[in-house]
Amino acid sequence: MSGDPAAKRRYYERNREAVIAATAAWQKANPERMVASRRRNASKRAAYDRTRRAIHGDKIRAQGRAYRAAHQEMYRAYGAAYYAANRARIIEDSAKARAIRSAFVDAARAGGCVDCGNKHLGVLQSDHVRGKKTASIAWMVGQRVAFPTLFAELDKCETRCANCHVLVTAQRRKKVA
Ligand SMILES: [Zn+2]
Repeated sequence: MSGDPAAKRRYYERNREAVIAATAAWQKANPERMVASRRRNASKRAAYDRTRRAIHGDKIRAQGRAYRAAHQEMYRAYGAAYYAANRARIIEDSAKARAIRSAFVDAARAGGCVDCGNKHLGVLQSDHVRGKKTASIAWMVGQRVAFPTLFAELDKCETRCANCHVLVTAQRRKKVA
């Protein structure tokens, strides 16, 4: 049988149910060999998956969207359970991520206020003077935006103390009005 693919195919078609049942039974009885086989074929499987996604990407994404839409409750419950189980670590990681971003912002403001020279980090702000403002730097730190996003926003800013920032903003408004 093993020498003739067509015969093998016919045998499979005649005995489909039995072959599937036997295969499932063998897999259940030999979990360690299944793991070894998966490991042996990992790169083949990855290549197959890449090809499948390249050809059927749109269909696969649409199926994923439909599945998530139909199982919103399940996803919400899973998210809540995950958060409850990992609350301390998530809070700690978020605080760390904010602290790192905050340190970069402080470094960017280290030169002090461009108008009066005040170098007290507690009063220094990032004044948007170039390009289009996406959001305040403080908000971006709070949201833990990606570093390139944060740095691109800082590039649009000059450092001003709160006083000089208020004054210069009022002057700009007068000029526009
Ligand atoms: Zn100032």
